[in-house]
Parts: sequence; structure tokens; C-alpha cells
Amino acid sequence: MTHPRSVARRRLIFLGAAALAAPMLAVSRKSRASEGPRTLAFEHAHTGEALSLVYAVGDKYVAAALEQVKHFLRDFRNGATHLIDPALHDQLHVLVTATGTKEPFQVISGYRSPATNPMLQREAHGVATSSLHLQGQAIDIRLADVALADLHGAALSLRAGGVGYYPAPSSNFVHVDTGAVRRW
Ligand SMILES: [Zn+2]
Repeated sequence: MTHPRSVARRRLIFLGAAALAAPMLAVSRKSRASEGPRTLAFEHAHTGEALSLVYAVGDKYVAAALEQVKHFLRDFRNGATHLIDPALHDQLHVLVTATGTKEPFQVISGYRSPATNPMLQREAHGVATSSLHLQGQAIDIRLADVALADLHGAALSLRAGGVGYYPAPSSNFVHVDTGAVRRW
């Protein structure tokens, strides 16, 4: 005998899964069958918003998901948006595996518009290193369940772009970008 409440809960879960799967179908038809959907989860330190999504299936990025990330990683000071490099999504996805995190990425900074970047350059984040935030190619992150030094080491091990280390107490984040492989 099944309790009515658990039935209702199952139905909710099913509907949630169906809603998630529907926009992916057109994409997954073209994708390599051997590769499943790739997910990412974020929490934004400044806006308080959370985002969890399937951003790619096989070798295809999900356009609607990239739009969601574009909005989520907007310049929170003025609402300006910029397409976020799809390769940055993949770097973050590999970092999930590399660190073993079960938590969302805490985002300190994503896209940075020309209007706010000069102001930020006067703060802790270096002038030269902040430019890729203007191109949607960089993100500043930390993980609640991974030591910052370990996240830093994992990011360096990718050898996939720039990696900056900004430890606590002054900052407490790792900068990751899709530019040339370099570190600071
Ligand atoms: Zn940065």
C-alpha cells in the first residue's frame, strides 16, 4: 500500500525530470550517444541566486542553458551581460570531477562590463588578470566543501587556461579563465 503523499512526491519528481529532458531532446539526437548530459551548479555570492542546469549533451552545448548562464553571470553592478565562453563551462565541469565536490560553485565574479572594470582594477584583483572577465572568459570561484588550495591545485592540473590564486583573508577565491595557460 502506497501512502498518497509519496505518490504525489513521485509525480512531482517525474514532472521535474520531464521538464528538464524536453528542451534537450533536439540537441541530444545529434550528440554522441556515449556521452551523457553535462551539468553545472552555481550560487552567486553577490546576487544570492542559484542555478543548476544541463549545459551540454555529447558534443552539443544547450543554447538555452548558455543563455541562462549568461544572465546568471551578468555584471551584477549594472545588469550588463556577455556570452560566457562555452569552454569555461567545460573547465568548471572538469573541476567538479577533479575536486569531487558535491556543492555548487560559489561565484564571486563572472562577466565584468567596461563600466565597472576600472573600479575593480583598483581593488585586490590585478589589472592584467581582470581583462578576460570583460570577454566572458573568466570566473572567480570557490567551493564550500573543497579547500581553496585544493581547488587551486585542481585548476592548475587542467592546464586549460589562466589560474589565479587569491587566498583568504583578503579574497578567498580562485580565478579561472580560458586564455593562455599561465598562473599567478
Ligand atoms: Zn578573476
